[in-house]
Amino acid sequence: MHPHIPFMIAVDGPAGAGKGTLAKHLAEVYDFAYLDTGLLYRAIAYEMLQNGYDLADVQLAEKIAGSLDPATFKESALRDEAVGGAASFISAYPGVRAALLKFQRHFAQHPPFFKKGAVLDGRDIGTVILPEAQAKIFVTADLEIRAKRRFKEMHERGIESRYEAIFEEMQSRDLRDEVRKISQLKPAEDALIIDTSHLNIEEVFLCAQDFVSEKLKTSL
Ligand code: C5P
Repeated sequence: MHPHIPFMIAVDGPAGAGKGTLAKHLAEVYDFAYLDTGLLYRAIAYEMLQNGYDLADVQLAEKIAGSLDPATFKESALRDEAVGGAASFISAYPGVRAALLKFQRHFAQHPPFFKKGAVLDGRDIGTVILPEAQAKIFVTADLEIRAKRRFKEMHERGIESRYEAIFEEMQSRDLRDEVRKISQLKPAEDALIIDTSHLNIEEVFLCAQDFVSEKLKTSL
């Protein structure tokens, strides 16, 4: 690893594919800083929903994006499916993405607590935010499997939900993320693609770690 350039790991993929779990795990294994970039978009959407603002108000969304303070985020409220859906609306606004780009790049280039690297998970980390990332991973899984996992997770957290509703919400969110004009959800050309549909979490971890460890060796 170059002494002054942090090692950057980009983990991208659709909702419910397991990218958050993988990204957190990698940050722990390599002792790197971790940023869940979805929370940034969710925080903007949450503020708009809470205040009854119109999600179509682009200027307002941009203004909120410019003054976010991650230290004040209430993660459990931001995790709500409705907030995720609203986030996928405001995330299509170029001004919002531009405001968040600076924050994300700064985090990766200057990881907190003098960590030697950073793991960022999202939709466009490997393609737009950190095209220079030394290791890029795209995590995906069949929609049905992702919806089942999310349903189980909600159930375990004691949140009542309907499988069909989760399936439809995920499907339309994926579509919005894939067809928007900028920063579409797609793998970077040099990304390792992991389809987690028929893998258990240990297998996903191993596959990703083999890849990252190899990249770390070559970046020395
Ligand atoms: O990953 P998460 O489900 O928390 O993201 C919520 C929404 O935020 C996504 O559906 C997507 O529209 C948006 N997002 C994005 N780019 C990112 C992270 C999230 O557009 N890097």
